Amino acid sequence: MPKLKTHGFTHYTGAVKNLFGVMPGLSKARMHMRAPSQMEFAEFLLDLYGGLLNGFEKPKKFIHVMDAVVGMEGEGPGPSGKPKNIGAVIVGDDAVALDYVAVNLVGLKIKKVFTLTEGFRRGYGVKSPDDIQMRGESLEDMRINDFLPPKSVVRGGIIWPLTSPTIKNLFVEKPVPRVEICTLCYNCLKVCPAEAIAKADDAKVPRYNYQKCIRCFCCMETCPEAAIN
Ligand code: SF4
Ligand code: SF4
Repeated sequence: MPKLKTHGFTHYTGAVKNLFGVMPGLSKARMHMRAPSQMEFAEFLLDLYGGLLNGFEKPKKFIHVMDAVVGMEGEGPGPSGKPKNIGAVIVGDDAVALDYVAVNLVGLKIKKVFTLTEGFRRGYGVKSPDDIQMRGESLEDMRINDFLPPKSVVRGGIIWPLTSPTIKNLFVEKPVPRVEICTLCYNCLKVCPAEAIAKADDAKVPRYNYQKCIRCFCCMETCPEAAIN
């Protein structure tokens, strides 16, 4: 049961990304480290989806029920995003097709959602948007025209010179905690897969080591105060 939300790292999170939830506990953080770029992470999510569909004795089917009655726009998927009335429930047995419909519904760019571009290429379900069979309301009647995308820039793989932490810190957005809001709960520190966050010592916010940060934005998603820009 995914929600329709924006996501600072994957641009959008829905049915395919929701399956990340089957990964137990800390193995989620390990997978973020093993697949640090947006394209690698999308490929991993699709590997996982394919494993769930075909990795058992008999192929399995899943029913994905997306709650898009109230979705999230802007700097999602955590509390920094804003609730957005969409008024839809989207149901399907093909996670890629369902995500395509959801992304279209709110007007996000398909080419920025690598689980879609790669998902159709893999063809676990339909191989092209033209093959999606829709029932119920028409997409045109339901479309949301003022949905805000996340600000972070979508890049495929991390390519040189962005592999250099110093260059990366100059050109790639980074999570920054805000002094006026942070309560020093350290949820961000606990969840960071790269161990890039340390206790504040004398400062008023945790110390971020951007040389180590892989820009997964898990800290932003976890922060209960929406204190991370
Ligand atoms: S500091 Fe935040 S964005 Fe960077 S690796 Fe840690 S959790 Fe991910
Ligand atoms: S999770 Fe948010 S409020 Fe808690 S320490 Fe980190 S930035 Fe501060």
